[in-house]
Amino acid sequence: AREIHLASRPTGWPAPENFRLVEVALPPLEAGQVLVRNQVMSVDPYMRGRMNDVKSYVPPFQLDAALDGAAVGEVIASESPDRSVGDIVVHNSGWRDLAVLPAGRTRVLDTSAVPATAYLGPLGGTGLTAYVGLVEIAPMKAGETVFVSGAAGAVGSIAGQIAKLRGAARVVGSAGSPSKVDYLRGLGFDAAFDYHDGPVRDRLREAAPEGIDVYFDNVGGDHLEAAIGALHTHGRVALCGAIGQYNATEPTPAPRNLALAIGKQLTLRGFIVTSYGHLAPAFHADMTRWLAEGRVRYDETFVDGLENAPDAFLGLLRGANLGKMLVRL
Ligand code: NDP
Repeated sequence: AREIHLASRPTGWPAPENFRLVEVALPPLEAGQVLVRNQVMSVDPYMRGRMNDVKSYVPPFQLDAALDGAAVGEVIASESPDRSVGDIVVHNSGWRDLAVLPAGRTRVLDTSAVPATAYLGPLGGTGLTAYVGLVEIAPMKAGETVFVSGAAGAVGSIAGQIAKLRGAARVVGSAGSPSKVDYLRGLGFDAAFDYHDGPVRDRLREAAPEGIDVYFDNVGGDHLEAAIGALHTHGRVALCGAIGQYNATEPTPAPRNLALAIGKQLTLRGFIVTSYGHLAPAFHADMTRWLAEGRVRYDETFVDGLENAPDAFLGLLRGANLGKMLVRL
């Protein structure tokens, strides 16, 4: 079998040398285990944090060991009465072509209505993150103006659409290129801007001249500062991610206007999606219906080949993806 190992810990931006493709001999299956041939794996921004040797909400990746992360694949051998050869499952042993793992760490997927990859995107942690952030953390109300950063990515594109479906009066998105801005308009965002086109504060003021009620933050830094400036009294921020800072070697200065949160009586609330599993059933019911009715659209960017998984991850950090970045094995 082939696996991608972490060869060294990156400082600042990761590079191909931080990864190594390794051939390994698989152990024979033990009772209760399955062998899965992975078909598609996910690369996600949180993996950057796990490459650092620091204590966090998920333990760091180990050097000279396979990375892991969400993947879907087909069971090709089973020593468990609960899984059959041919089952399509989702699990967390990505970054390898073949995975040996306990059957209990796999979940059998219903692919009758949606392709298996949807469980790595809108029906997976990505979609749940968007849902939890908007519905539980912010939470947004009908008639409000919502601003989403990283809006053409996996979480952001779903967050903007959920905001619309839940009755937002105006949804504004930011992204990193003119074609992504066009994409956002096509998705139903009322306004969108490229954050390279001058200060975020100025672009946001044009896109939401009346201000905003909710900010779904995927980026941090100057985006968060601009949002704090634009938020109305009692405005709310779902602190989802800060991708603008993940490769920084120095702390970033923004937001410099945090004290405004006092007078405006803002709520800025961080969250980690894995703490909100209790909302998964409600989310799953809503999202399954929205997908079936064609009311949520999702896009995927595929990179082919396990050996190119590091490139897919590096590309994700640079914005090479529209929607969910996935690796086809
Ligand atoms: P995306 O699909 O959004 O991919 C990352 C995107 O970030 C890129 O496409 C790029 O798009 C954008 N980006 C990169 N650098 C910058 C920058 N300096 N400024 C602004 N945008 C930048 O990834 P996900 O949807 O998986 O994740 C989105 C965010 O959600 C991340 O911050 C992630 O850490 C967070 N997250 C949080 C979770 C939680 O539980 N709290 C769970 C899952 C994700 P562009 O071309 O627009 O720059």
